[in-house]
Amino acid sequence: MIYPVLSESFDSNCYIVVGEKTAVIDSGINPGPVLQRIDELGVGVDFLINTHCHFDHVGGNKRILERTKARLCVHELGVEFLEKGDKERLLAHWFSAEAPKMKVDVRLVDGQRMDLGKTTLEIMHTPGHTIEGICLYEPESKSLFSGDTVFADGIGRVDLSGGSMSELEKSLLRILDLHRREGIDVLYPGHGSIGSGDDIEKAYNMFFG
Ligand SMILES: [Zn+2]
Ligand SMILES: [Zn+2]
Repeated sequence: MIYPVLSESFDSNCYIVVGEKTAVIDSGINPGPVLQRIDELGVGVDFLINTHCHFDHVGGNKRILERTKARLCVHELGVEFLEKGDKERLLAHWFSAEAPKMKVDVRLVDGQRMDLGKTTLEIMHTPGHTIEGICLYEPESKSLFSGDTVFADGIGRVDLSGGSMSELEKSLLRILDLHRREGIDVLYPGHGSIGSGDDIEKAYNMFFG
């Protein structure tokens, strides 16, 4: 089951994916609403996965890690950013915060499958918005968690450290290929409202078509 915790401010959206094990995808800045939802569901958290290292997605990590036994997971290219508290990569100052340092437990790579029991998350490395960005595909419900790579109404910005329009285009083409082969019925983006695979097609056509 997938439980979205949609942001009402500058935080990222967060998602709770519950199989036999539970994963939380992104922590926002204020993880209060996610922690409350976890309590309501009565589940532990096994994995905390960051789609990328921007502070609006990782700022709540510390509180979630303190409250649960979650293992922190990020794409291997982002490990150093989190462990060193890299200011330029985390952009914590945008949110008037210090860049926190945190130890990463699991280095994710493209093609990796995270078996939660009854559900699986497939990792796709999708650089463009950042170099370490990932999307996660859940094949049962045909859901894509897209971080800031693509939204229901557009694409992620590429003008920040590590951003690249040509990389983003390649990443979107891979996502569209997945949509055509397997289908993406639900798009769970890092910001804004929930969408569908057709919204990804539209976003691609608007910017690259
Ligand atoms: Zn974001
Ligand atoms: Zn971002």
